[in-house]
Amino acid sequence: MIFDPNTRNWHIEKTMIKVDATPFAKGGLRMAYHMLDLDLVDRENVTYVLKVSIDPDEDVDVYHRDVEMQLFAKGIAEQFNYYNPPKKVGFVGAWLLKLVKRGGQVCAVERFISGPYRKHNNNYGFVNEDERNTPQAFSHFSYEVCKHQLLVCDIQGVADLYTDPQIHTTAGEDKGDRPFGKGNLGQKGIDQFLKSHRCNAICRYLKLPPINPRFEEIGTVPVDNTVMQKEIERINIRVFEVGGRLAMGGLAPEGHAPTPRASKSEHLPLLSNKKQTTKITITAEESGSNCECCLVM
Ligand SMILES: [Zn+2]
Repeated sequence: MIFDPNTRNWHIEKTMIKVDATPFAKGGLRMAYHMLDLDLVDRENVTYVLKVSIDPDEDVDVYHRDVEMQLFAKGIAEQFNYYNPPKKVGFVGAWLLKLVKRGGQVCAVERFISGPYRKHNNNYGFVNEDERNTPQAFSHFSYEVCKHQLLVCDIQGVADLYTDPQIHTTAGEDKGDRPFGKGNLGQKGIDQFLKSHRCNAICRYLKLPPINPRFEEIGTVPVDNTVMQKEIERINIRVFEVGGRLAMGGLAPEGHAPTPRASKSEHLPLLSNKKQTTKITITAEESGSNCECCLVM
């Protein structure tokens, strides 16, 4: 299933995949398998990651929230890049797959990114000891551009292509039902970030209100140490109820529309002021036998 963040609808397409028999990674909640899209394998050399819950009774809604969260973070990344920081950031696209031949099991799918994987911060104030400027500034940017209503953290991935973020929101504090799942620690999580964050050269370039500024100039700095002429344009965030739970959306400022994507592996920006829909068609085979699957969002 593929999620269209503009309409908040999921659309379904059938596809065929080939999945490794054994996982290449195992976390606390999910196992990760390499996966090939047999329909595209001749045209693009892309490997995907299939993430399956260890808990066989995992609520499908958890998968939905994870995909929504990653696409939301991807939209914030597009806004960050709009201001031409020295290093652009991105999140890999994510969608869901329903394995018809495995009793309709639902799993999450995203493009596999190869290279050294790093976690730059987490959802409770941890900052990697190398304290790279770009990922830390991106988290701070997300907080400012969304008018302190949310924070994108748990920044991790290869170089500045990220995956598996967490978003803390102030929405839902009173109802005990926060958007974006269990890792959303609300204001408490935001406060932990604000305690440990130290503003760096990229925060200064973006004219973000300073938090514990670092005085030494280390890491990535803008050319000639410039700052932007104007302040960043804040995004209006909407909070609404969908399917009995809270969700969030936003609209990019006029003129900030992200570049439309043509590739299946890079699609669905969240915050666009132009309507975009991307379709995928995949064909799949599991462990040697063909499997008809539905992409669900
Ligand atoms: Zn900062």
